[in-house]
Amino acid sequence: MAQDTIFSKIVRGEIPADVVYQDDLVTAFRDIQPLTPTHILVVPNEVIPTLADVSEDHEPVLGRMLRVAADLAAREGIADNGYRVMINCRDHGGQEVYHLHLHLMGGRRLNPMAQ
Ligand code: 5GP
Repeated sequence: MAQDTIFSKIVRGEIPADVVYQDDLVTAFRDIQPLTPTHILVVPNEVIPTLADVSEDHEPVLGRMLRVAADLAAREGIADNGYRVMINCRDHGGQEVYHLHLHLMGGRRLNPMAQ
């Protein structure tokens, strides 16, 4: 299958993951190597390799990713103190999995951003 990724397999339930949310457009699951007490990945169900590959057609799924992240932050109890949402893009951005995903990170005070 073209454009298959490890995250596609999680979306389809073919490999195990701690899935915390799924709908017609996106799936959210806990990062296998959490860097913060709450570390959830929100991915489109259909593969978009990187943020650099998005087009106008993707606006609905991009909006859904952000809204779901905010809803999950509230559900995780980290919204009042705040949290970080991050997308790594391609090589210089440190992207490892080429299936667009946002990181929802919180549960402790995070370090200042870019290095
Ligand atoms: P990136 O560096 O691409 O922005 O982040 C990829 C993230 O995916 C990393 O934080 C990594 O721990 C996570 N990850 C990689 N493979 C798996 C997996 O098979 N399952 C889960 N739940 N997370 C994964």
